[in-house]
Amino acid sequence: MKRSNKPLLPTTMPKDGRKKVLVVGAGAAGMACAHHLAEHRDKFDVTLIDSVDYCGGQAFSIPLDKNKHGASWLNQGVQGGSYIFHHTMTMFARQGYQANPVKLQVAFGKDDTFWTNVYPTKLIEKYQKEVQRFFKMLGIVRALEVLFVLLPIKYLLKIFRFSYEFANVVALPMVALFLGTGNYTPEVPSVILERLCTSPTYGMWYPPDKHSIISNLPPMVVFPNFGEFYENWRKSLEARGVTVRLSTELVEVVKRDKKGVQVRLMKRTPAEDGHNPSSAEAPEAPTSNADANAPKEEEEFDEIVICTLADTTKRLLGKTASLRERFVLGSAKFADDITITHNDADYMRKHYQTDFDPSTAVRSLAGTDQSWRVDFAASNFRPMYLIKPYPADVSKIEMCFDCTNYQAQFPPSTPYDSHVFQTIFLNKDRDRGLWTDDEIDPSKIIRKDWWHQLCHGWTHYAKVVPWLWALQGRRRTRFAGSWTLVNAHETAVISGIAAAVDLGAAYPEDLERDRWALLAFRCYYALVYGKWYRRKAKEQKGEGEEWASGVYGSVYKGPGVVDEERKIWRSEVEKGRSLSEEELSRMLGSDNMKQAETRADDAPKVPAESSNPTTNGQNKSSIVNGKSAGQDRVSEKKDSAQFQDRDRDDAVSKLHGIKVNGNGAPPRPSAPVEQWSFYGAEDE
Ligand SMILES: Cc1cc2nc3c(=O)[nH]c(=O)nc-3n(C[C@H](O)[C@H](O)[C@H](O)COP(=O)(O)OP(=O)(O)OC[C@H]3O[C@@H](n4cnc5c(N)ncnc54)[C@H](O)[C@@H]3O)c2cc1C
Repeated sequence: MKRSNKPLLPTTMPKDGRKKVLVVGAGAAGMACAHHLAEHRDKFDVTLIDSVDYCGGQAFSIPLDKNKHGASWLNQGVQGGSYIFHHTMTMFARQGYQANPVKLQVAFGKDDTFWTNVYPTKLIEKYQKEVQRFFKMLGIVRALEVLFVLLPIKYLLKIFRFSYEFANVVALPMVALFLGTGNYTPEVPSVILERLCTSPTYGMWYPPDKHSIISNLPPMVVFPNFGEFYENWRKSLEARGVTVRLSTELVEVVKRDKKGVQVRLMKRTPAEDGHNPSSAEAPEAPTSNADANAPKEEEEFDEIVICTLADTTKRLLGKTASLRERFVLGSAKFADDITITHNDADYMRKHYQTDFDPSTAVRSLAGTDQSWRVDFAASNFRPMYLIKPYPADVSKIEMCFDCTNYQAQFPPSTPYDSHVFQTIFLNKDRDRGLWTDDEIDPSKIIRKDWWHQLCHGWTHYAKVVPWLWALQGRRRTRFAGSWTLVNAHETAVISGIAAAVDLGAAYPEDLERDRWALLAFRCYYALVYGKWYRRKAKEQKGEGEEWASGVYGSVYKGPGVVDEERKIWRSEVEKGRSLSEEELSRMLGSDNMKQAETRADDAPKVPAESSNPTTNGQNKSSIVNGKSAGQDRVSEKKDSAQFQDRDRDDAVSKLHGIKVNGNGAPPRPSAPVEQWSFYGAEDE
């Protein structure tokens, strides 16, 4: 091994009694950990390293051609989350950023297998009996949850005798898109499917619909520019005394004992875009051969917090790994997926249901009038998430984001042919034979990224999560990262804060006053560290107490999120980084805009007596009455969102006999009624 004489990091222990802490990995977990340790400069001397040349890990942005797509950047990987992400949004606020609201629309399947949360389709009509059985099943699983906690979904669906097509085309895709479980969904514990539909706090599909399975548009948030957010966060860490060393890889933990932790580090060659290719020291990455002869140095620290993926962490612990660590870390399973970011609209039209198609819609289900949903969809159906089961094997899926419909920096009227899509091809080792990636026009590919995605199989909740407490804090080592619970940005942030708190940092007082944030943190800390966090804030009144609203305080109303859709777009237009509606029509040329108009005109006209005030055929990009049509569409969208809230609430109330207020977090039924009699009022 080639060695240089120059240490990569200062080797002397601080003489001031501070603990020297090494945080490995500058993703959401590592950043949150370093941030909270840095609040105590008197106690900790913090070094944060990452093998790549940027902060953010799986959360990063890529540049786009503004004149082609309407916006100059795209959040790659992490795009959005839920109102329960209190810690994430607080971190946005601390750096001066804000998330924007969005109502989620999902398109499942295509043609005969198409269904959506926006309007009822023939597929849902065809499977009415199974839909109703599914609804009853949710109630039974909720009531007897303890029996189903670890049961893989595939067995649950067999026990309740669902047909092969219903299971694969309707039930499994509902879960697949969230948490990145993808083709591992059949292995996911049943409780996740059940909670997705029955939890009023984190249940994406709550409340379930007896006739449509799902008929709500989940209120979500889309994130600000992650590249900038994380870069600013890095600067603020440095300003508060954290030593941030990018392009610095942990090769191996050499020793962990009473005296401290000895590690071997390697300086990486920074890539121009910051995404250093995998090194020769990372055999789990198929393309790893970069920096094969880079010099390595040994350094010493008092404590280490490892925020890398579980399998990487196991390798990094090397010979120092205990049997327990090997078992727990080795039980986490990952799959290799690729995202292809592109703007091949023809590929999308061929494989997904991208537009409202009146021939797929039904106006009534089991005698209940669904017209209002169909009328709404006629001019407002813009799916953000799309899923297709492979025709050759419907038990395997491909997933896609329409990033232009989803992310808030894009002009609302961007013509479809200029949209940016991100198609995810899952599980290379097992399913590559099914992939249709070669059908994407190479000239329309913007970028390809490989991901090592956590599989949320039942084994993760039997062999990994319940045993982490037995590893934490032993041998001067703590483990953080979203893999410690579920693959979400919020989990990563909480895990980083938990590691810092366990080392002696304070949990922020404002978050302690936010009752949902505190509850989420306490639950995580209890599960993953086996300890109960006791309140420390001296004042129970003050900043943070107003942030938690809605059911159990789960809906975040603090700084770091705004009420207005596409606010990011408006401020990007002011900065000259996104196109205004006028610029969009000028830059993209009349042909493209005509196409957008035609697309809007293709939507069936809704009869005048329709109760939907939004179907006024003004979805155009021309200037109307001194306002651009984009502005019209934005206010139309706002109106329609309110309309939809109101009408959805009416319909849900009618269907379920419960009161729903549409403020982003439907309340639980005020009184037990027939459909909800399985659901106790305080059993979250
Ligand atoms: C395609 C995709 C889409 C997603 N979409 C969403 C979404 O919309 N919403 C959501 O909430 N979540 C989403 N997620 C999940 C979310 O991105 C992750 O849960 C979260 O970002 C993980 O953060 P982390 O800090 O745990 O890990 P990471 O972000 O993976 O950070 C680990 C860091 O460790 C570094 N590292 C690895 N090995 C070493 C080493 N030897 N030495 C030094 N550094 C090392 C890595 O370079 C990396 O920066 C998505 C994930 C993917 C892949």
